[in-house]
Amino acid sequence: MEISRRDQALMSVSEKDFAKVIDRIKIGASEDCWPWTGRLTPKGYPRWTLQTEGQSVDVFVHRLLAWIHHGPPPVEGPWVHRTCGAANCLNPAHLFWGPDQRKVPEATILEALRRVLSGESMSEVARSMGLKYNTLYTWRTGNKRPELLEKAQQMLREEKLSA
Ligand SMILES: [Zn+2]
Repeated sequence: MEISRRDQALMSVSEKDFAKVIDRIKIGASEDCWPWTGRLTPKGYPRWTLQTEGQSVDVFVHRLLAWIHHGPPPVEGPWVHRTCGAANCLNPAHLFWGPDQRKVPEATILEALRRVLSGESMSEVARSMGLKYNTLYTWRTGNKRPELLEKAQQMLREEKLSA
């Protein structure tokens, strides 16, 4: 697996720098969201400037926590997703690695849609397949990739006919 320069910087974070990051997280009860009190990106994601080998690198704090708590990402080009959907949340229990939602393979989308159309709950399918709930929702409603929704419906009809 290829590790990006930013992620390499994250993994070499010193104990002193890590303590600075933790100081900026409003740690609450284990089930609550833990908001970042430092700088945010325009979309509301926690960012932080890391000094590494004399250079400043802008990094996402949720990626640092995902590496520390969940280990290396299981997929290529991974994103950090949140079960709670809050962009600034850093509770490690709410963070998980998943595929870049802009590059989910067609077969994965079809499988997710087939499961939802067969009656599984969207949150269960999203969680078990490492997909973002909101993205699954846009596929299910046909708002994005409507051709795949149609294809999944067709596949399901054929499965029922041959059952
Ligand atoms: Zn949260």
